[in-house]
Amino acid sequence: MSKTHIVCITFDHDNMSPYISRDLATPTMISRGDFGVVALPRILDLLDRFDVKSTFFTPGHTIETYPACAEKVLKADHEIAHHGWTHRIPATLGKDGEEEELVRGIATIERLTGRKPRGYRSPSWDLSEHSVDLLLKHGFRYDSSMMGHDYDCYFCRKPDQLPLEQPAIFGEETPLVEMPISWTLDDFPHFEYMRNFPGIQPGLMNASLVLENFVDDFLYMKQIQDWGILTYTFHPHVIGRGHRMIMLERLLARLAEEGAVFMTMEAALDAWQAHRAGTLAEAAAR
Ligand SMILES: [Zn+2]
Repeated sequence: MSKTHIVCITFDHDNMSPYISRDLATPTMISRGDFGVVALPRILDLLDRFDVKSTFFTPGHTIETYPACAEKVLKADHEIAHHGWTHRIPATLGKDGEEEELVRGIATIERLTGRKPRGYRSPSWDLSEHSVDLLLKHGFRYDSSMMGHDYDCYFCRKPDQLPLEQPAIFGEETPLVEMPISWTLDDFPHFEYMRNFPGIQPGLMNASLVLENFVDDFLYMKQIQDWGILTYTFHPHVIGRGHRMIMLERLLARLAEEGAVFMTMEAALDAWQAHRAGTLAEAAAR
């Protein structure tokens, strides 16, 4: 089978929504989110130059607060996927609250794009025990909030049973596909200085060093797997600063040089399903 190394360049199009959801709504904090408006055209231009189609996980709050930004993403033909309506963490909302948030976000995206979102990424990457069931109930094909692999998709499980002093009992596999992420491949913890979280998140890393990490994860995938998908997560209001945009440009150039095939998450999911069907058929014929 020929070698294929897919890269999903994804953006969590948060702007001010995570600051509001954490009760950090002072003018300066809001302006940090507003910077996403300045950053977006720079990002769309860069993606266009490298012919990269991306997935923008977009809270309903961003779509309705910054409609011109959402329109620009849509016009450039990138995938728009679900990232909550507010940016509250599903695990904090209770089952009904989580479902309300899901339904409201779906409706907002459907009004913008004319179709329901296929993919979901939880705000702040923390699903609840209800999330998988709710995502299946509302027709999602994939989630992108978990970290159980780095180069492969896998099927999400129903809730595990986790008695503290007994071995864990894993839940049954469901048809919902996980397209995994990692904090190591997310711009936010590397770059954003936050003194308002519990404790300080120092951020402000040297972009060239972060670039080295990001490239090496792709090179390692090529080293150990003939077929794989690697997903990077960026935020317009974080990556849009000058030195970081130069880093993103260098990343795209290096990955292209190394043979990366850039896809939206939905296209990568289709590719994974086709690859999986081929592998299963090959195994059955042996
Ligand atoms: Zn987010």
